[in-house]
Amino acid sequence: MFTHTIEINMSLRVCNTTIINISHREKLKNQLTNLKISCFICEIMEKMRAMILSECAKIETNPLKLAHIDRHEIKRSKEILLKIEACGVCHSQLHGIEGDWKELGIPPTLPTVPGHEVVGKIVQIGDEVTKFKVGDRAGITPLLEACKDCQYCKEGKEYLCESSIITGESLKGGYTEYITVIEDFATKVPENMKSEYAAPLFCAGITAFKAVKASEPKPNKKIGIFGIGGVGHMAVQFAKVENCDVIAFSRSQNHLDVAKRLGAIDVMVFSENQQEFLDTLKEKHGMLDAAIVFAPADIVTDTAIKSVKKGGLVVIATVGKNPTFMAFEEKTIRGTLIGSTKDMEQVIKICDEKNIEVISQTFPLEKANEALKKLKDSEIEARAVLIP
Ligand SMILES: [Zn+2]
Ligand SMILES: [Zn+2]
Repeated sequence: MFTHTIEINMSLRVCNTTIINISHREKLKNQLTNLKISCFICEIMEKMRAMILSECAKIETNPLKLAHIDRHEIKRSKEILLKIEACGVCHSQLHGIEGDWKELGIPPTLPTVPGHEVVGKIVQIGDEVTKFKVGDRAGITPLLEACKDCQYCKEGKEYLCESSIITGESLKGGYTEYITVIEDFATKVPENMKSEYAAPLFCAGITAFKAVKASEPKPNKKIGIFGIGGVGHMAVQFAKVENCDVIAFSRSQNHLDVAKRLGAIDVMVFSENQQEFLDTLKEKHGMLDAAIVFAPADIVTDTAIKSVKKGGLVVIATVGKNPTFMAFEEKTIRGTLIGSTKDMEQVIKICDEKNIEVISQTFPLEKANEALKKLKDSEIEARAVLIP
């Protein structure tokens, strides 16, 4: 590969973390002058920088390690190769990494590259790709792939497919530089949409959108949103788009201030003293028509069920114990999980047209542990986003 014989010595920054000395030839020097190459070794060896989880552990022990792994390449004719621009940090990654969800089979294998809110630029396409061209931008939700053949897939509920593959639960995740995906499971991102804005739409955004849709929104319907973080702050806005009267609940005054600014008609601090909380709510607003729960605490779900009027609807978009409820009150309890590629297209469209706000805070890829630690300590206002 290198034909010249003049030796040079240089110091290189490898992945912005390690300084190494490299002795090489002149042609190499020419390649090095392109300082846009963030990691020289990765470029030459067709590797990519990735934050890898090899063993579940508390985030304080920095379980994600920077590594150079084989860059994904297109293996099937319908695949596209994305150069990742941003990946959101979802609360579910914290649970997966710390081993809280081992009983749920998450993560199913190790090692993994976590991350399932991915946005990037298409740098290569397979022979049979029709939806995208090189240079387009696209994003991937937690649903990396589904069978396209089962009843769920045929009904447009591919996120329920029994043989689905989840982004970030194998080496195909977002905490890295490249990823491949079958074109049907990627969604176009407009050129003008910033990547740190777009990335959180692919899990937080679609989750919020689908949950609001599940709450059967209509003008002046009184909807309570329990938990105003990365997902909740977007749900407030999607419910607002439907002209619902949103009341936001959170333990954090900061989050409530955000909800108020984004259009909630009222906000209330969530209190563990359930009776007192319900009395205050009833006094101020009466009972809710519907409630959406994003906060992963059983007491919150229980309180949400008690906050809706008879015949009301409760949408649960989180993991927890199944709550008990009075059948004779004719309340409906509905679960919800991300959404389809069609839903995702709608999320992008609505966010673009209605100027939905995404509150995000960016971190370099190498600071993934730090971002997750801040998320754990409630120091992230809404969404942390990693930039490779
Ligand atoms: Zn997520
Ligand atoms: Zn299927």
